[in-house]
Amino acid sequence: MMRPTANDLTLGQRLYERLDIFARHSEDEGKLTRVFLSPQHRAAADELLGWMREAGMAAHVDAVGNVVGRYEGLVPGAPCLMMGSHIDTVRDAGKYDGNMGVLAALACVEEFNRAGERFPFAIEVVAFGDEEGVRFPVTLSGSRAIAGTFDQTTLSLRDKEGVSLRKALTGFGCDPGKIAEIARRKEQILAFVELHIEQGPVLEDAGLPVGAVTAINGASRLSVEVRGTANHAGTVPMHLRRDALAAAAEMMLAVERRGGAEPELVATVGRVDVMPGAVNVIPGLVRFTMDVRSPSDSARRRAVADIDRTIGQIAEARGVDIAITLTHEAAACRCAPELIEAIGQSIARAGLPVRELPSGAGHDAMAFSRLCPVGMIFVRCEKGISHNPAEAITVEDADISMRVLMDFIRHFDAAPLKRLDEDRPVA
Ligand SMILES: [Zn+2]
Repeated sequence: MMRPTANDLTLGQRLYERLDIFARHSEDEGKLTRVFLSPQHRAAADELLGWMREAGMAAHVDAVGNVVGRYEGLVPGAPCLMMGSHIDTVRDAGKYDGNMGVLAALACVEEFNRAGERFPFAIEVVAFGDEEGVRFPVTLSGSRAIAGTFDQTTLSLRDKEGVSLRKALTGFGCDPGKIAEIARRKEQILAFVELHIEQGPVLEDAGLPVGAVTAINGASRLSVEVRGTANHAGTVPMHLRRDALAAAAEMMLAVERRGGAEPELVATVGRVDVMPGAVNVIPGLVRFTMDVRSPSDSARRRAVADIDRTIGQIAEARGVDIAITLTHEAAACRCAPELIEAIGQSIARAGLPVRELPSGAGHDAMAFSRLCPVGMIFVRCEKGISHNPAEAITVEDADISMRVLMDFIRHFDAAPLKRLDEDRPVA
């Protein structure tokens, strides 16, 4: 494949402009906010349905609000290569998170349709509606429903206005009673591949527009409670205090140190509550959160165990009591080695060095890990910023993304994947 010249960015320009057009589906003027099953989500879905049909796809909105477009292969009814991402956003979001993966996959099909190109497999492009989990206290509803792991009890969860997920789905025109029916069987999906902005600074730092994702990091979230004794800040000498905040500060530095002790491991304290929280009172109670992620589940568990032990030692030395609670745990999702390799080959054919990197953020692709092989392509974003209106990509990078994705599809071969799938251990 030829590298694009400065004058030949048609694919990238078209994708870039369409991302701007699509970002108009927002509940706030001048900002992008599009939450699951909102009127703006409906308008975005309708526009997407139109674009999919113009691109020669059969398209519909399924029972959980996913927009699904199918471009048949050489033989109608063939198993599919599924691609896509999410079209819900956080509040005051960027235009590229999620949306780029959907519109890039759609743009590939447009090119194939225009040229009359078909493949031994079908291509399905899916726009999931609930990746960010902003409206309801649940996430990945759309991708989990297709993967057959949708939790029916979440239908009674409510948003802050008291509207249940079930009612919101009905209002969107969906039949929540049919969600179980949209689950795919293994033989229907050859692979799921998601293109997404990196949402981190690694590619930019390496000077590369795209990269092949190796795994979506697993995560542990913990909450730590530190109990000391609240007392007068003026009357208690330093050696007679049980200062919960000073103890917590030492613990937080230990978390940071352990996070930095090995590559690809990250550990963050993101929230601290101090009680009573007064200028003249020694803090008696501190609660802080801890988030630990790694592409390796064993490395993550080891780090959590180490941090747990260190926090215990600090508490003992300072005479405070602690309680540590695990609030969330998700295993890492390993991308299929064959897909990492195939994506790398497409990047190399675009004339670029191949960089492999893990994903520190969660993605819809995780939901597919037990159904089919999963692959992800990351696209450089400016300063690694996302979940922010300052989120930015370049036309040149959009163009390279399109070329890599089209090349990947053209070379996609399900045969080695199928063989592997038979003896793939469940993670
Ligand atoms: Zn996203």
